[in-house]
Parts: sequence; C-alpha cells; structure tokens
Amino acid sequence: MELANMSRFAARSARKVHAVRYYSIVHDVPRGGPSLGQAPPPPQAQGQSVFDQAVNALGPRNNWTKEEISQIHQKPLMELAFAAGTVHRRFHKPSAVQLCTLMNIKTGGCTEDCSYCAQSSRYKTNLTATKLSNVESVIEAAKVAKANGSNRFCMGAAWRDMRGRKRGLKNIVEMIKGVRGLGMEACVTLGMVDKEQAMELKEAGLTAYNHNLDTSREHYPNVITTRSYDERLQTLQNVREAGIHVCSGGILGLGETPQTDHVGLIYTLATLPEHPESFPVNKLVPIKGTPMFGQDPVKLEDMVRCIATARLVMPSTIIRIAAGRVTMPESEQMLCFMAGANAIFTGEKMLTTDCNGWDQDKDMFNRWGLSPMQTEASRIAAEPKFEAQSFAHMRGEDESAPQSQA
Ligand code: SF4
Repeated sequence: MELANMSRFAARSARKVHAVRYYSIVHDVPRGGPSLGQAPPPPQAQGQSVFDQAVNALGPRNNWTKEEISQIHQKPLMELAFAAGTVHRRFHKPSAVQLCTLMNIKTGGCTEDCSYCAQSSRYKTNLTATKLSNVESVIEAAKVAKANGSNRFCMGAAWRDMRGRKRGLKNIVEMIKGVRGLGMEACVTLGMVDKEQAMELKEAGLTAYNHNLDTSREHYPNVITTRSYDERLQTLQNVREAGIHVCSGGILGLGETPQTDHVGLIYTLATLPEHPESFPVNKLVPIKGTPMFGQDPVKLEDMVRCIATARLVMPSTIIRIAAGRVTMPESEQMLCFMAGANAIFTGEKMLTTDCNGWDQDKDMFNRWGLSPMQTEASRIAAEPKFEAQSFAHMRGEDESAPQSQA
C-alpha cells in the first residue's frame, strides 16, 4: 500500500498538477475473539517488573493497582513511549488511525458548570445557544465526513442529561439510524443517560457512547460540582449494560497534577469490569470567560506520558487525540501516534473549538504513511496480533529471564 502511495505521489509531482488529496484506505484486519472485558486477566508472570508484565501482556487486565499504573507512568519517557509503541504494534495495526468527525447537534445553554466548557450557561463566552439540529442537516454533515474519509461520526448535545427530552431522543434515534445507514460508526455524547435511554440508543444501532470522566476522582471536584464522579460512572455502566461501546477519557490541563491525576484517571477506567473501547485524550483549549482560562498549556511530555501509559494499561483500547490537537505541530502528533494513539477527530470543527481540517490531515497521513482505520466496531481486538517480545535484550539484561506469561 505504501508503494502504491509513492507511485501515485510521483505521478502527481511529475505532472505538476494541483495535488488531489486522498487517503489510501487500508482495511483494518477483522479481529475475532471476545469483547474487551470478556477476556480473563492474563496470569501474572513471576519475577517480572510490572512494566515488563505490561510490555509482554497478551490481553487486557482490569486488576491494576494505582501503584502499578504509577510505576509505569514514572518510567523514563523514551522507554515508556517505545514500550507503548511495541504493545501498540502487538494489538493494533500501527499505521492505521481512525478518523472521526464530531458535530455539535445542540450548542450552548447547558446548565452544568464544567469549568473548561464554552457551552455552560454559567460563563460569558460569546457563544450563541442553538436548538437541536434537524435530522437532515446531521445526515448531510455525516455524508461530507464520510466522503472525506471519516468512518465514525459523533454527535454532541450540550445539556446535563436526557430527562424530559423524549422528542429530542426520537430525533437523535433517527440521526443514529441515518449515520449507520451510511455505513459509518455512530457515537453520541448526550450527558447522563439512564438504562432505558441507553437501550433505546442501542436499538437505534448506536456504536459508542462518549462520556468522559475528565480527570481523576480526587481532582474532579475542582473542575465540576453539578454532577458527581459516581454519576458519571453510573452512565458508563448504563451504556455498557445496554451493549454499547464505551468511549471515556479525560482532559489534560485542568490544573491537575499529572503524576497523580493522569494516573488516577487511567486507574478508574482500567479497573472497570471492561476497559472502554475508546479513550479520548483532550488537551485543554482555554476558552476566554471560563474559569479554566489562563491555565498553563499542557506539556508535550505529559501528553505523551499519558497516552503511553494508557496504551500499556489498556492495550486493546483505541486512544484518541481529541480536542486541542490543532495546537500541536505535526511532529508532536507523530510522537503521540508512536506512543500508542490511533484515532483523531478531523473536520471543520470539534464542538466549539477549531479542528485540523480534512485536507491537512490527509496530507499528514500521506507524509507519514498512515491510513484511515476501518474498524468493525463490534469486533475490537481483545487479543494480540503478534508474539510478545521481551524488552530485556534492549536493556542489556539476561534474555533467559521469563519473557511472557503465555
Ligand atoms: S461539558 Fe457538557 S455537560 Fe459540561 S457544561 Fe459543557 S456541554 Fe454542559
């Protein structure tokens, strides 16, 4: 496929015409096996450090301790990123990155007090609130996203929960059906949902539900006060029990301490009965008028460390570079891909913030030999594709030591 790309590139250059940007589509290998959480935790190898166990893992485990995750998170960054890249290659096609497009289907006027959010009615952010979009306009937007290579279309509504929104839910059900009818994965982020609402969304064909925990349990009260961490976890449970894939992650740059709060966030998600199929990592986009405006920018090393730790701790999960990617130079994005990230949001907007455009991302993919991932949402890998490898030889250690728990 790379050869094909190169020859197309050469032909374009030779003709000196305006380059037509496109992706070379690689179909991600359909992967069998049980869903993420159904795999039993692999046995722990004797005599290996927790880091080596993670590097050599043959499947997800959800019996992590916070201390273990912290040990991984504290590894020298080069070693951590390389290890994460190695695990990534065992569980995922390394050049495949999922393209998702996120549309705001109802903007602003939200009663919650999430202190980073432009859509909260509590802050003066110059955002104009809108009503729920109509179904046709959403399907049209999904078609444009599909034509540009996205295979997941996400729809976000700014409100606390779905209570009393029967008509809204009916329209959202039609949107989900329409997106699925295009052959795309459909994801929604609609605040808190109960079991019944989750079932209705499942019946509509919803692929995944996004509900971020945002940060660690300990730091959470400094960010949001209008709903609790446990309420968020209850929504995740309702979604999971309805048979919908869980997309849940965090926002870096909320005044947290990475060593404890990034670890705490990963710990909560990695010890759920099943790992989320998707872990978005957002980089705070500071919005003037919100309490989080003025926070120090997220350091690249904290971003890479968070992604790499998540990759080692939740090896089968798709890790998304979400909001804030637009502020990252391409070289920084590549480091994140090498450390285990394998999905991005692309398109005109990401909710209320700017997003890297399709053409920009196509160019980046072609430069680096990346291809859009074609997932089968119902068949996310629970098993490694390749044999476990030991890192011992790279550190000059005795290779006769146990190499894997297989
Ligand atoms: S993040 Fe969601 S729930 Fe929180 S204020 Fe913004 S729109 Fe409302």
